[in-house]
Amino acid sequence: MPSIWGRVLGSIAVTLAIGGIVGAYFGSMLIGLLVAMSIVLALHLYRLISLEATLSARKRVRVPDGDGIWARVLAGIRYQQQRVRRHKGRHRRLMKEVRQSTNALPDGVVALTDDNEIQRFNAAAQLMLGLKRRRDRGQRIDNLLRHPDFVNYLGSGDYEVPVILPSPRREDGWLSARLVPYSQESRLLILRDVTERTRLSRMRSDFVANASHELRTPLTVISGYLDAMETDADDALRAWQKPLREMTQQALRMRAMLDELLALSKLEASAAASNDKPVDIGMIIRETKALYDNDTRSIEAKIETVAQVLGEYTELTSVVSNLISNAVRYSPEDSQIRVSWRQVESGAELCVEDDGDGISPEDVPRLTERFFRVNRGRGRDSGGVGLGLAIVKHALARHGAYLKIDSELGHGSQFRCLFPEERIVAPEASGVRLPQG
Ligand code: ADP
Repeated sequence: MPSIWGRVLGSIAVTLAIGGIVGAYFGSMLIGLLVAMSIVLALHLYRLISLEATLSARKRVRVPDGDGIWARVLAGIRYQQQRVRRHKGRHRRLMKEVRQSTNALPDGVVALTDDNEIQRFNAAAQLMLGLKRRRDRGQRIDNLLRHPDFVNYLGSGDYEVPVILPSPRREDGWLSARLVPYSQESRLLILRDVTERTRLSRMRSDFVANASHELRTPLTVISGYLDAMETDADDALRAWQKPLREMTQQALRMRAMLDELLALSKLEASAAASNDKPVDIGMIIRETKALYDNDTRSIEAKIETVAQVLGEYTELTSVVSNLISNAVRYSPEDSQIRVSWRQVESGAELCVEDDGDGISPEDVPRLTERFFRVNRGRGRDSGGVGLGLAIVKHALARHGAYLKIDSELGHGSQFRCLFPEERIVAPEASGVRLPQG
């Protein structure tokens, strides 16, 4: 069987031969050859132009059959067209399945560009945010969800922990929103209805706040009587001195616990601390250090910046005093504690470091839980109740800051509080320009 080239060249040769013979018959073989050549060319050109017209037609037109080399070319195109059609069908079915499954998700999913423009969203997101396909595609998500906590979260670049915000559609409803980047230019916003969870957590903190508040009054009465009995010179009470002292100490401890529980409930009640008053962290460190002047442990304070934090004085004081008091309580006598305040690339950092007991790696993530105490079983009673670091964590979160703990059992610990740039200012009217970290 002759090859395709053989057949093509053969048919051209036959046409040329006929043209040559007919030309010779009429007196010019050359003209006959030229005419035959032109006919061959015109036929191929005609086929090419009609193929181009078929392929560029908008509607689906069947590629015609042909003969010779064209039969093969057209069959090849038809085969490729069928393959593309099959792939398209498969792709369409897959897309439909993906759409159906994302629409079946109870969580809202919004696909965003890196500019936070809405690309697509599922049915749950549509319900949760009241989105409309035609109207909202291409809109920036922060134009639709304007809650300050969400806007801050979006710009923060740290999407580890979801942000909780009031539902824009349901009164008393709450949503948790988390951003999950999945490529250079796209990210998913995952929304979850956390109304029930938030309601229960509010009930719990309200209950703790109310119970702590109510328990303070009877405790004050009991402490008052204990004080009076301790100082009473009555002989009958002399034998009771030791138990009375013990009871007073426990009453004081209980009072401290109630105060800390109340402080924690207050911190939990609102999401962000005000940011209109600058707080001088350097000064708080110096003042707190002075409280331990008579302690055998020495505190070295390194205040490297005049930068101040926009926030609540009492909360920031409680952060510094809790961390320094822990470093003192969990370090041996005569050891050294280092406290520093400096500017870093992302803002400013408060660091409290000791060479004390240290904490084992499995306990580190649990330190900020309420009532968690590593040394429950250890001989030395620190007198703490396990609420200090929970207060530190909440107070920091309200200032957009977070706590980083590095520790090695038996070798000491480092507690670093990282404050974001937007909370850091130079002292008012000092004319100081803060160096960029
Ligand atoms: P507490 O009132 O018990 O000190 P905290 O919440 O402040 O409560 O701390 C929780 C636990 O973390 C402490 O009981 C202690 O075991 C551990 N801890 C805190 N700070 C330090 C530290 N600087 N070194 C070693 N352990 C620490």
